[in-house]
Formats: sequence, C-alpha cells, structure tokens
Amino acid sequence: MTDTLHPDTLAVRAGALRTEFQEHSEAMFLTSSFVFRSAAEAAARFSGAEPGNIYARFTNPSVTMFEQRLAALEKAERCVAFASGMAAILATVMGLMKAGEHVVASRSIFGSTVQLFQNILARFGVETTFVSPTDPEEWRAAVRPSTRLFFVESPSNPLTEVSDIRALAEIAHAHGVWLAVDNCFCTPILQRPLELGADIVIHSATKYLDGQGRVLGGAVLGDKTLMEGVYTFLRTAGPTLSAFNAWVLLKGLETLPVRMQAHSAHALELARWLEEHPAVTRTLYPGLPSHPQYALATAQQRTGGGIVAFEVAGGRDAAWRVIDATRLMSITANLGDTRTTITHPASTTHSRMSPEQRAAAGIGDGLIRIAVGLENVEDLKRDLERGLG
Ligand SMILES: *Cc1c(COP(=O)(O)O)cnc(C)c1O
Repeated sequence: MTDTLHPDTLAVRAGALRTEFQEHSEAMFLTSSFVFRSAAEAAARFSGAEPGNIYARFTNPSVTMFEQRLAALEKAERCVAFASGMAAILATVMGLMKAGEHVVASRSIFGSTVQLFQNILARFGVETTFVSPTDPEEWRAAVRPSTRLFFVESPSNPLTEVSDIRALAEIAHAHGVWLAVDNCFCTPILQRPLELGADIVIHSATKYLDGQGRVLGGAVLGDKTLMEGVYTFLRTAGPTLSAFNAWVLLKGLETLPVRMQAHSAHALELARWLEEHPAVTRTLYPGLPSHPQYALATAQQRTGGGIVAFEVAGGRDAAWRVIDATRLMSITANLGDTRTTITHPASTTHSRMSPEQRAAAGIGDGLIRIAVGLENVEDLKRDLERGLG
C-alpha cells in the first residue's frame, strides 16, 4: 500500500499501530519488557520462530512505529532507530565492518563524525581517508582493497557543498563498497539517497525529524541484509531509542513535509536578500543559481533546504557583531528547529580544526551559518540588519 502513497500521506499514516482500544493518536509504550502467554510462547519469541516484542532494548512498539514511518518516507526495506545520530553512525560501522577495513569519508562531515572515525574507530583498526565532497575522482583514487564504506553528507555543514550521490554510488559499487549518506540536512522530503544509488541512509533525528528541538534520536536505513547487521549491534550493545523519544519523533514526522517546504522557502528568500546585501561578501545556499553546484543540487534535491551560510568582511569581530545584534534568532549550534538558529562555525562547531584546516576547507572567520526556522522572513531580515548595518 505504501508504494503508491505520497510522502505527505505517509508522514501522517505510515507505520501506525493500533491497540485494542482503537486510539486515534498513536500510543506511547512505556514498558521495558513484554510478557508471554505461556512458556512455549516465550521460547518461540526467543528462538525467532514467532515475531513479537521481548525486551525494549531489542524492540518496542513506539520505536517500531517511528522506524516504519521513516522507512516508508525513505523508501527503505528497513529502518533501525537509535538513541542519537552519533549512535546510528557508530552502529553502522560496528554492525558492518571489522578491524583492518577502510572507510573513505567526505572531509566536510559533522565534527563528531570526524572524531569518531579519526580518533575512536582508528583505535579499533578501522582506518579512514578523508577526501573532497565535490570531487568523485578523489574517492576513486582513495579506494583500497580493504575499503568497505563510503561516507558522505550532502549538503555539507556549514558551506552547503553538494556531493554527487549517484556518481559516488557508481564508484563505490564498482569496487564492492557500500555508500552511506547522512541525510540529516535534506530529510527524505527533499532527497532520497537510496533512489540515487546509496546503500545506507543515516539520520540524526535530533534535527529536522523532531524539528522542534526536543529530543535526541538517530536512524539507519537500508536493505534487510545490511540492516540485520546494524540491528544485531543495537540489540547487543544497546544504544536504543527510548519509547518517549520515539513517540515525539513519530509526531514530528507528521509535520515534516510542511515544515521542510516552509524551511526551504524561508531560506531561499533570506539567501536572496543576503546575496544582494552590501555588507555580505558571499552567500552559500544550494537553491541560489550562484551556488557552485546549483545544477547538481537542483537535480538531486527537491528544494535547497533550510541552511544558509554567508560571509561578512571584517572576520570574527564583524561576524560576532552580527550574531550579538540579533534579538530573535537563537545563538546555538543546533539546527533543524522551528526557531531560527545562528552560529559562528570557526569559533564553535569547527573550532577543533586548526586555522590552516579551516582556511583550506573555506570556513573563514567571517562565516555565519543560519538554520532558517519558521518565523516570518521579514522579521529575520530585520534581526540581521541590526548587525549588518
Ligand atoms: C547533529 C548531527 C549528527 C549527530 O547527531 P546527534 O543526534 O547529535 O548524535 C550527525 N550528522 C549531522 C549532519 C548532524 O547535523
């Protein structure tokens, strides 16, 4: 049935389970374990002969509903939910790889993801090579016989670089490598990496899937065979999504299509205004024709998404002045919220990079990132105008 339904329908209908009470809004199942009608039923559940819940580290109906709804939206065979986005990324590697194997990852990925690959997984014998998000040939050149995984995020944070998912999938598959895409910024409403050839989609549900800055969550999606490995790690190691958070996220998904449309429309309008502003030296937004990968972004994403980056002359002092002059926007590194957030990447999210690394990556001291919320755009412009002068 879900094959023929549109995303806005799936967002409110897919995955809903109803109990004998026929509740209309999905119930929350705050229970750590489940009881069996008999010893034989318990044995059948444990052996896997009979499907059903056993213990909430493995499955819980609230979590299952969230997984099924997100799987329907991403058009994935299976979704496995996690306590956070980072737990989802860790589980992908722990579930599918082993010591001695190699990862090729985009240089422009979430800071904690870089730390995870570079500092933690390396200690367990999984090595990572970082390459350009926009040059597929660097990925091809980085492949070794031991390479098992490509890892990319598109568009990237904070520069909104767009990676060619189809091209990376082709290179990956020519070498027997899986392509994982962190689809946090676009969500399945704007981009479905599995349809573009990716094998694995990863989410920090903390961002747009919740969309209101309330809970942490994560998810990994893909075919049943790959997800079995990821699920086995979850079930054994236990970075499980709580029932409460799953229920909040399930409700978050209901408004995801309308929110993503609004985030994108507001971001486009703000980006167009920033681009024309005399105090702004550079504006980066995938929905602007001036974006270096505008054609690719337009083909790959339905709209530009909610993240806009721009640069002001005068470095850190000028950027901080703009940020400190805002009265409406929230000064926070989080993103994907109904409330607009404003960040200075060089001194916060990307402060662990050396100044040379930041310069090479194009993250200048005058760069500001805005995750555009659902406030009226005129109010947002006025909020920025105070500091832009
Ligand atoms: C926030 C984020 C993560 C990590 O997610 P958590 O839920 O904070 O663990 C991973 N990838 C991207 C792109 C993110 O923005």
